[in-house]
Amino acid sequence: IRLAPHRAITQLPDHLISQIAAGEVVERPASVIKELLENALDAGATDIRIKLIEGGKALIDIHDNGSGIKADELSLAVTRHATSKIRSLDELEHVESMGFRGEALASIASVAQMRLTSRTDADAHATSTHNHHGDWQNAPAAGDVGTRIEVAHLYHNTPARRKFLKTDATEFSHCLEYITRAALANPHCGFSVMHNDKLVAHYPISDWQQRIADVLGKNLPEHAIWVNHAVGDLSIVGMICPPDVARSRADTQYAYINQRFVRDKVVSHGIRTAYADVLHHLRFPSYVLFIDLPPQGVDVNVHPAKTEVRFRDSGAIHQFIANSLKKSLAQTASARIAQAEP
Ligand code: ADP
Ligand code: MG
Repeated sequence: IRLAPHRAITQLPDHLISQIAAGEVVERPASVIKELLENALDAGATDIRIKLIEGGKALIDIHDNGSGIKADELSLAVTRHATSKIRSLDELEHVESMGFRGEALASIASVAQMRLTSRTDADAHATSTHNHHGDWQNAPAAGDVGTRIEVAHLYHNTPARRKFLKTDATEFSHCLEYITRAALANPHCGFSVMHNDKLVAHYPISDWQQRIADVLGKNLPEHAIWVNHAVGDLSIVGMICPPDVARSRADTQYAYINQRFVRDKVVSHGIRTAYADVLHHLRFPSYVLFIDLPPQGVDVNVHPAKTEVRFRDSGAIHQFIANSLKKSLAQTASARIAQAEP
């Protein structure tokens, strides 16, 4: 496009606004998975079934048993900036749901074929809607209480973007990583994952310790140290590894703030600090840590992809993490020495 000096300013059409916005939210199949899993979990699902075809490029099909969407709200669910999760700035500042922007479904629908089937416990049957040449049509459908979203042929209408997708295997491994993140933080929910009609993961409902063991499997560090500390309204639970089994790659590091997976400097530096005296700087501790604090102490509204957060008092969080983990490491070390003594 050449910019001519006389070109008039015009309002972009809605579908183009959505396609542009989708670039931020929907980078690849895994980002669709992240959004759909968050929606299912926000809806209180205790069972989520995921089916992927060709690494999610051909089909992402996610079925939950959450609260469902009323038939007359289906079209709102796929409208930009329409959400059931917040209504005011005050609610945004106290938000406990994973979503709140009301953008994901609209964004996904603007760059893929989407079918949404849902039923609440007040409905006699499910209702299904799909995007057909820009408009949504509802039709009665079969289905239990809950929601099923099928997303087919991601980027079929934006070929330039489709070219950035990698091989099926690579896209699938990104999908699985996002599923892992959600599964670790939500042991109260069962997950199953099929890829190209093969069952690749199945995590039954359990407690968080068992879920970590189920998900990490053979990657669960030998002699994993279970962490459980609280000071005031800060708490940290989870698993860290003893320094001597730290890995040469940072591939098993999961930190959550209020159930939300984060990559955060304050958190990772706090963890690093706990290991400072006992770990070579080129080794990486494995960990799965769930840190909870009151929602007003953390701003989750930093970026749509939302792995960043901002703390009101980052110094206190840093210190709490470092001190808690130092304690766990020291207890384990002295327990081992005691055991080794005759
Ligand atoms: P957000 O999650 O930020 O509200 P979304 O675009 O992801 O925005 O979803 C829009 C709305 O659709 C949600 O606020 C919710 O009311 C409804 N919704 C989406 N997915 C589900 C689901 N799996 N179960 C129940 N309701 C859902
Ligand atoms: Mg959402």
